[in-house]
Amino acid sequence: MARWLKTSISAADKADADTKVRGIVEGLLADIAARGDAAVREYSQKFDGWDRADYRLTDAEIQDCLGQLTGQDLEDIRFAQTQVRNFAEHQKAALRDIEVETLPGVVLGHKNIPVNSVGCYVPGGKYPLLASAHMSVVTAKVAGVPRIVTCAPPYKGKPAPAIVAAQHMAGADVIYCLGGVQAVGAMALGTESIAPVDMLVGPGNAFVAEAKRQLFGRVGIDLFAGPTETLIIADETVDAEICATDLLGQAEHGPTSPAILLTDSEKLARETMAEVERLLGILPTAEIARQSWRDYGEVIVCDSLEEMVREADRIASEHVQVMTRDEDLFLTRMTNYGALFLGPRTNVSYGDKVIGTNHTLPTQKAARYTGGLWVGKFLKTCTYQRVLTDEASAAIGEACSRLCMLEGFAGHAEQANIRVRRYGGRNIPY
Ligand code: NAD
Repeated sequence: MARWLKTSISAADKADADTKVRGIVEGLLADIAARGDAAVREYSQKFDGWDRADYRLTDAEIQDCLGQLTGQDLEDIRFAQTQVRNFAEHQKAALRDIEVETLPGVVLGHKNIPVNSVGCYVPGGKYPLLASAHMSVVTAKVAGVPRIVTCAPPYKGKPAPAIVAAQHMAGADVIYCLGGVQAVGAMALGTESIAPVDMLVGPGNAFVAEAKRQLFGRVGIDLFAGPTETLIIADETVDAEICATDLLGQAEHGPTSPAILLTDSEKLARETMAEVERLLGILPTAEIARQSWRDYGEVIVCDSLEEMVREADRIASEHVQVMTRDEDLFLTRMTNYGALFLGPRTNVSYGDKVIGTNHTLPTQKAARYTGGLWVGKFLKTCTYQRVLTDEASAAIGEACSRLCMLEGFAGHAEQANIRVRRYGGRNIPY
């Protein structure tokens, strides 16, 4: 039976925080819908201290941002974007349009059509998360999206040069320096100065994730990608230092980021808890990491690897780092996770920044029903059909007519009947 050596705050407290965020976001979106640019400007001032008449960055501002980075910075961004692009292109190649003859004379097909316009949100409140630009803009580009708009908040009072460079190098058509609910609200709803998009993608804090959730239906969204979560699954094949490093490496994201250790070794669990305290004494971002570890950190001891698989599926974490004697057990048996990091040689940071898999991943148990952002999310799989022969039309028509009448749909039935008469030369025998 799984035992907790450390628990997080209660589910009720977490739900309470979610309810507060929901109410705030509802109010902001309603106001942006009603007042457009005026509301966007007011909230940009209020939440980010950032005010200008037009939030679109000019070419000169973009070039200025590029000029603030070193050659090495630009090379590293290019390297990361190349890895993301390579993997996305392989994933796209695995997607095929199909056309098949399912019955003699009956042809069915589907086409994968890129969404016409997307809004890519790049988070940047606490840290300038430039990697999110690779993940959404590069992937949308590979999918063939014709219009790519992107927003990121100002960082320390002005556009973050590294984010702007990444947005530009990834191939964005329009870059706005705008953050939070006002950014996703403006992109989805449109304002006097910002044309609306068909789909919103990208991660963000609780406000951004909730705004995307509320806007779903009005526009498409990729997935629910809120505050980062990490689950470390480890046994005594690794040591406490690597476990604690991997927990804090993600806990530093924000004060509500869960970092959980799941192990079959009570010794490793206790040593890791002590090691976390030691590292919190020297980590430059310890202030945030300490708070998230205190409120959202958990340490769970299981009796076996099998129990760890079950517990990990229940948690359904965004990131799952596996460092055990049998890592393939987790690859073959686990069903609920955003991304798996198998073995101690890789880690969540590689996935977050550079290795090429997408870092926009499901949180709050959304991994039960979706994977992360990928090229397929930007494609609509749309079906079509044709009937090639009179015989096929009449045969399908007879079955269709009877099925329509079972539902009481006389008009539907007549659509079939006319074809049975015209192409089959007979009436429907009810
Ligand atoms: P952010 O860009 O998501 O949010 C900043 C914006 O939040 C600001 O521009 C401001 O407008 C808004 N805001 C702040 N306080 C507010 C309030 N009280 N009311 C209304 N709006 C408010 O940047 P961030 O805050 O640094 O968060 C980034 C988040 O992205 C982190 O939580 C991180 O874990 C998450 N993330 C998730 C994934 C994923 O795939 N799930 C990937 C990367 C990052």
